[in-house]
Amino acid sequence: MYLSRERLGAVELAFTDRLGGVSAYPFDQLNLALPRPAQPDGPPVDDPDALAENLRLLQADFGPGDALADLRQVHGAAVAVVDDATPLDPYERPEADALVTARAGVTLLVRVADCVPIVLADPDARVVGVVHAGREGLVAGVVPAAVEAARRLGAASALTAWIGPHVCGHCYEVPWEMREQVGSLHPETVSTTRAGTPALDLGAGVAAQLAAAGVGRVERVLGCTRERADLYSHRRDGAEAGRLGALVRLAPS
Ligand SMILES: [Zn+2]
Repeated sequence: MYLSRERLGAVELAFTDRLGGVSAYPFDQLNLALPRPAQPDGPPVDDPDALAENLRLLQADFGPGDALADLRQVHGAAVAVVDDATPLDPYERPEADALVTARAGVTLLVRVADCVPIVLADPDARVVGVVHAGREGLVAGVVPAAVEAARRLGAASALTAWIGPHVCGHCYEVPWEMREQVGSLHPETVSTTRAGTPALDLGAGVAAQLAAAGVGRVERVLGCTRERADLYSHRRDGAEAGRLGALVRLAPS
């Protein structure tokens, strides 16, 4: 169920793997994707009942009794803030790529399959966040936007970030022009595949953005999604890829 799970003070966070759920091949097992309607002659879609059960299993283990806050992710830079006034039952998924809260009893979730998941936390200030950053989100600036939103909620300079599993800089091959374009803005992303072709290292780009935003401590949860069979990868499996989750919650004080 978890590639990694840890606790730092009142903060609990996890990055999931694909094990421990009920989805059938090719989405096996713990697919956390949002349900999609099947199209005639379209790509395969996972069973909505299995998706609901996967989420239920995960929530029952990670934050039993918590409300869930998640997103319609659009590769942008918008940050959704879950405050005391945010209705969570029923909850309407905002269109955004990061979530922050200072509210206990809420599990924040972003979904990924090669993009970079990031957890932000300041246990003393009791502020947490999650971010979904692919190539477009990196360029759009969702990472510094989420750090700024966390600070507005009271997070201090003691903000810690965890960079979760994503496609590595040797596996994310891109056209030469794209590497030039992104690399001119974010030089840390410039990379090369093992075959010597142009690639981007999104994790390095995110780490540089976190450092530039003044996040003093950055932890890395290792694991290339494309290389590991226990993780979902869109690059490897295309429309047959499920989704991994990055989760964070504040335990009630
Ligand atoms: Zn790799």
